[in-house]
Amino acid sequence: MTINIKEICEKDRNTVLHPFTQLKDFASGKLGDPTIVETGKGIRIQDAFGNHLIDGFAGLYCVNVGYGRTEVAEAISRQAYRLAYYHSYAAHTTDQLAILSDRLVKMAPGKMSKVFYGMSGSDANETQAKLVWYYNNLRGKPTKKKIISRERGYHGCSVVSGSMTGMSFYHDHMDLPLPHIVHTGAPHHYWGANANETEREFAARRAAELDQLIEELGPDNVGAFIAEPVLGTGGITPPPEGYWEAIQAVLKKHDVLLIADEVITGFGRTGSMFGSQHYGIEPDLITVAKGLTSAYFPLSASIVGEKVYNVLEEGADRVGAFSHGYTYSGHPIGAAAANAVLDIVEKEDLPGNAKEVGAYFQKQLKEKFAQLPIVGEVRGVGLMGAIEFVGDREGKKRFDPALKVGARISKAARDRGLIARAMPHGDILGFAPPLVTTKDEVDEIVAIAESAVKSVMDELI
Ligand code: PLP
Repeated sequence: MTINIKEICEKDRNTVLHPFTQLKDFASGKLGDPTIVETGKGIRIQDAFGNHLIDGFAGLYCVNVGYGRTEVAEAISRQAYRLAYYHSYAAHTTDQLAILSDRLVKMAPGKMSKVFYGMSGSDANETQAKLVWYYNNLRGKPTKKKIISRERGYHGCSVVSGSMTGMSFYHDHMDLPLPHIVHTGAPHHYWGANANETEREFAARRAAELDQLIEELGPDNVGAFIAEPVLGTGGITPPPEGYWEAIQAVLKKHDVLLIADEVITGFGRTGSMFGSQHYGIEPDLITVAKGLTSAYFPLSASIVGEKVYNVLEEGADRVGAFSHGYTYSGHPIGAAAANAVLDIVEKEDLPGNAKEVGAYFQKQLKEKFAQLPIVGEVRGVGLMGAIEFVGDREGKKRFDPALKVGARISKAARDRGLIARAMPHGDILGFAPPLVTTKDEVDEIVAIAESAVKSVMDELI
């Protein structure tokens, strides 16, 4: 298809309200033209000018099977021809939906029972909150409703999920967070630990702080704790040693449900199928999206554990039907896409690839960047990693935000053909390439990133 690039840019600028974009700078042209993405193959995308870019972030950590997988396109097409839509209200289903749900319940960690479907990670977390509230109402605990999440956690942008998100710039000017949502400290040793505090000591302190917070709020008022197994958008930060063990002990003590937000970590990114398996987490509820369909179709799921589901079923005679659902819950095309994607994840052992290529990737990142004078920390797990830049390594001080170091490095990488994301909390360059990435492709990614980092470093020192 030939497109008129100028015309597309003009239509876009005039009519699209872009997420996470400085509206005035975009409208005035100061940000330049939008990037028109036309095609994708493997780990690369191509823009309307024919420029190829390595997508070191798999879109938004979601195109795990890589671009251009015809098996998935064909599964979507087959389903669209056969039956493009039917709803899942009042016990209607499709074969693809039933097959997918059976698969998810069997493959998910912990004792899972049922799957509720949405279209995004945000709405799936919104559902989780309602499930927690519904569960505690049915148990006769009407005050046990507060949900604790973590500073720097990211759980979405809708009203409840946006409140769970623990970064103030997602709340400012949007009247969030809601009063039901409370935040506790981030599990990031590099910035959070006291002098000489080991990872284990720091993790134990974070767990003690959570314990104290629940005591202060009153255990009868706290329904759930939501967290990503690995802090994602808050800086790609694996948990400190002993963190999950200590946190889960506190939650058990106070009868507080654990929601594992596996929107990024689900389906292989850490090198295990789920982040929960990687870190010994036994969640009561699990949120998945992104990797579920590798973003070939918008689909998310709130996977409900036996403990919660049993209460819902027992209460049904008293309260009637489960009154929650969307027109598109369990969309058959989404289910067909997810089944085709999970076939690839399993057949090509993408968690195994993330483990092996991920170990190589982490080693390369450490070798090439950890000793640079502007680098404070290199961290990651599997095929997700980050480099954090600081103005003063010894004194652990950030760069002046006005220098926009993270954004400049991300732009320098982009100019060299690599998408690596400037993360929002500090000067952080984040990577989360597709799970099909090879070691040779890791070499390409790291070489471009190295050139980009050194070019900006030369401007700074
Ligand atoms: N949860 C996590 C851990 C995420 O990373 C994201 C998105 O990045 C979400 C939830 C929200 O998902 P969505 O953007 O599909 O609403």
